[in-house]
Amino acid sequence: MSVKNEDLPQSITTMPALIYSGPSKSLQLARRPVPRLVRDSDVLVRVVATGICGTDRGIVMGTFPAVDGVILGHEAVGIVEEVGKSVSSLQTGDRVVINPTYACGECRQCRRDAAAYCSGKEGREVGVDCDGAMAGFILLPETSILRIPDEMSFRRATQIEPLACVLNNLSAIAPRHGDRIFVFGAGPIGTLCAYVLATRGFHVHIVEKDERRADIARDALDALTPSHVAVSIAPPNGERPDVIIDSVGWLLEEALGLIGEGGTVLIMGEREGVEARVPLRPLVTRGVRIVGAGPYSPQDFELAAQLAQDLPLERFITDEAPLERFVDAFGMLAAGPESTGGYRALKVLLVSDERSLS
Ligand SMILES: [Zn+2]
Ligand SMILES: [Zn+2]
Repeated sequence: MSVKNEDLPQSITTMPALIYSGPSKSLQLARRPVPRLVRDSDVLVRVVATGICGTDRGIVMGTFPAVDGVILGHEAVGIVEEVGKSVSSLQTGDRVVINPTYACGECRQCRRDAAAYCSGKEGREVGVDCDGAMAGFILLPETSILRIPDEMSFRRATQIEPLACVLNNLSAIAPRHGDRIFVFGAGPIGTLCAYVLATRGFHVHIVEKDERRADIARDALDALTPSHVAVSIAPPNGERPDVIIDSVGWLLEEALGLIGEGGTVLIMGEREGVEARVPLRPLVTRGVRIVGAGPYSPQDFELAAQLAQDLPLERFITDEAPLERFVDAFGMLAAGPESTGGYRALKVLLVSDERSLS
């Protein structure tokens, strides 16, 4: 049986937490009080592991804004420690995944079935403007937490959040059978996009200029989809692509120079302040669409959790490190003081509870 929060021994009334310092754009591991239930709908989750996302990396690199003093991390799994009085879908000991994208369920956007654009998100973006999961515990409302099947590993479940992001973006472009698809960027999102498309029978070409990063993605994908995904450092010759997915986020001009007639360019990578010069006439005469999908909805997240049961997503995790080794972990993703060697990993997990993970 799990220990209730109020009964926690003195030694665990505080927890380790990876905190972002805005002025110096740096991270530090500090001790913070374990959060306590405030509302009846609150759930306290003991964090097991949290994936490092491009967003976390962007925050540390100063290309994505976050609140000073916030605990980072949103791709998280854990075990329910304590639930508020009104919580009915979860109980202590449940293995869960966190849905960090808040939806109030009551605002105009939520009521018109567009919860992705919920107007109540401010101050509730987990790991960005409210405390995230790179810590010992996280406190969230019941609606932000989903139980995972007993047979799903925690490692796999950390990939549900990025998968939700990918599913949302792919449904926004709805590629057609036979489409020639390029993905720009072989990071975790670009690679996962290519993989999901491959599982649907598409042949995908990833273009990644960083040779080492291309190798890492190739290794992960080769075991999964031997013939459906190619990875190269330059776009292949031949016919123009029908779809380009820019997972990097600043390659729109390049994509528009390459896309075929009637094609679609999906901008998926996110980077503060990036602008592009877009010649407008070709959009009309060549029928080119530029698409941004916005955030995923709660339905996308549930769909991702279901789909993850059949996809061995844990194979995208190339490295794991305990919270204390966060400098190494970010360094593997070419961020922070240990970043000199470029990318050395695909998906890296920061582990809060090693025993529960293995
Ligand atoms: Zn993420
Ligand atoms: Zn709402």
